Amino acid sequence: MTVIPGQPGSAELSELPEPEAGAGELLVEPVLLGVCGTDREILDGVHGEPPPGHERLVLGHELLGRVRDAGGGFEAGQLVAGIVRRPDPVPCACCAQGEWDMCRNGQYTERGIKALDGYGAELVTIEENFAVPIPDALGTLGVLTEPSSILAKAWEQIERISTRACSVHERVLVTGAGPIGLLATLMGVQRGLEVHVLDRATEGNKPEVVAALGAKYHTGDVTEVAKEFDPDIVVECTGVAELVAGAMRHTAPGAIVCLTGVAAARELSVDVGALNNELVLENDVVFGSVNANKRHFEQAVNALCAADPDWLRSLITRTVPLESWTDALERGDDDIKSVVDFSQRG
Ligand code: BGC
Repeated sequence: MTVIPGQPGSAELSELPEPEAGAGELLVEPVLLGVCGTDREILDGVHGEPPPGHERLVLGHELLGRVRDAGGGFEAGQLVAGIVRRPDPVPCACCAQGEWDMCRNGQYTERGIKALDGYGAELVTIEENFAVPIPDALGTLGVLTEPSSILAKAWEQIERISTRACSVHERVLVTGAGPIGLLATLMGVQRGLEVHVLDRATEGNKPEVVAALGAKYHTGDVTEVAKEFDPDIVVECTGVAELVAGAMRHTAPGAIVCLTGVAAARELSVDVGALNNELVLENDVVFGSVNANKRHFEQAVNALCAADPDWLRSLITRTVPLESWTDALERGDDDIKSVVDFSQRG
């Protein structure tokens, strides 16, 4: 599954030489590969970078694969997820400690996104240290590991910030009921919190999927919704300017607002003075969170293993064979997570 970054319409299935595993690497056969908004942006030509000296980038960073040959503590046939980011070569203080998700110099690389080929091929290599074992009990639902790792990191950071004072955090607002918002909801519910989800869909499967977790589904204006229950944690999962601004403004004192979404830049008029005053006078924290390190991938696996498998299955709304992989990037109103199935060969 390849694309020329910066060139919309360049997606294709390419013939590539078979990869060979170097020292400390595993050969892995992809089983399922999830796609997300980042992949759409790369296909649209607005994101992504090929490996140095290459024109094309192999896409794909949400891997569930099977180890072909035993090695490095892995057995042949073992299911694994693949970590996305690799530390910068300097390395910065964070990358030096395995916290590459917090890279300080921007020289990190990412499989299928930034300067490294991804996992969207019939055979891929993964360094043993960047493969995460998936228990057989989780099986193909392990394809949700990478998106879950993003929320495991976000929740870990929220919990670290919440220890700065005596405040107890109880009521969560999640904006957006896509895969990221729903996995944020799952992890909020798993922490025993009261979780409210705001999305624009008034019908379809999202209200049910949220209700099945015991969380409350809302549509409409973010200000009105936030007024109803005064959130003290917000996990913003859309990157939509109005929601980001609304999510920062209408919170309880001591609130923690975690921004996880990115969207095309768009101007929005906001009273920064009023926003500043609210953040200061209420001791609010607003922070951004991206990517995940190995610890977060392991936390993600634990969260998925603790979830209802039928609920997790309900998130995978579109499965397409490799031959028509670009169909996975199309988005119907009811689509949550789309995956490319490498076992369905025509
Ligand atoms: C991936 C992250 C990555 C981010 C920015 C997301 O879609 O899940 O791992 O850091 O895009 O490239």
